[in-house]
Amino acid sequence: MALNVNENTHPVPDDVAADIVARVATAIGGVNRYPDREFTELRESLAHYLGHGLTPENIWAANGSNEVIQQILQAFGGPGRSLLGFTPTYSMYPLLASGTGTVWLAGARDAEFELSPETAVAEITRLDPDIVILCAPNNPTGTPLSLETIAAAYDAARGMVVVDEAYAEFMPEGEPSALTLLPGRPRLLVSRTMSKAFAFAGARVGYLAADPAAVDALRLVRLPYHLSALTQAAAVGALAHSDEMLGMVGEIRVQRDRLVRELAGLGYRPHRSGSNFVLFGGVADPHATFEALLAQGVLIRDVGIPGHLRVTAGTEAETTAFLTALASLG
Ligand code: PMP
Repeated sequence: MALNVNENTHPVPDDVAADIVARVATAIGGVNRYPDREFTELRESLAHYLGHGLTPENIWAANGSNEVIQQILQAFGGPGRSLLGFTPTYSMYPLLASGTGTVWLAGARDAEFELSPETAVAEITRLDPDIVILCAPNNPTGTPLSLETIAAAYDAARGMVVVDEAYAEFMPEGEPSALTLLPGRPRLLVSRTMSKAFAFAGARVGYLAADPAAVDALRLVRLPYHLSALTQAAAVGALAHSDEMLGMVGEIRVQRDRLVRELAGLGYRPHRSGSNFVLFGGVADPHATFEALLAQGVLIRDVGIPGHLRVTAGTEAETTAFLTALASLG
């Protein structure tokens, strides 16, 4: 049972899968030709899905949001430039920085892994980065980020500010996204993915909303035809059924909140989470606990934070199996 990489553990519903297969079959008919390099229909579908008055000119997509972030660093980072993130945060940021020759700068969070507007501004002023990346909610801690912090970071930064909203759909309903901050902020880029709430991790689709000029900068660094015709067809199909694709999000939030409650009941210290996973402290020996759970068939994640482990909220049965296995360790 894999609860280690924050996937949506519910499969794509059968009727949606059938429609996606039909669309991919049609795309196969034209696969002797290169795909639409502007992935026009996908950008239209994504703009429609995101709302907020966004148009296809505001949208970019790639093979997962890792590739989107890599392209951002290729376009705006590189040798002699720097990227600031607030640690602990998503472990790919320093790797993508290093792969593009960008200097990684680690800013601080408070002891509960929160990031206040004051701390964000102080760290940006201290480290003077070319690019800032804010993970909202933050992986691996689950911590939501306020729009006040994002707006303050934007005002303090001199370059691009990326908000990685990979887990946005798991935020409490009605919680505003950084998308609401886009008007009038041409240096703001909001990255998202279909890998998490959308249950589409294997299809590899990430995307971005930003000012059209920022999108144009990504056009200069992408490889020609980077999104296959099959990927485009599958993603457009999934987005045509977004309500159904996101149908399990409410249930996943229930399991996430249950994890927080029951982990506390077992004597651990779960952190508040706006995502589909929970980081919990109070683990005497994370490596030993990780191994003991694995021996019972439950794979979670040792994220390298002393005294902590991270677990993905799965189905009700998976969450029960994890909690039962953990409780059995005594
Ligand atoms: N950002 C964050 C914060 C993530 O946790 C992940 C996946 N673990 C990604 C981006 C990348 O996801 P993908 O490339 O599948 O879109």
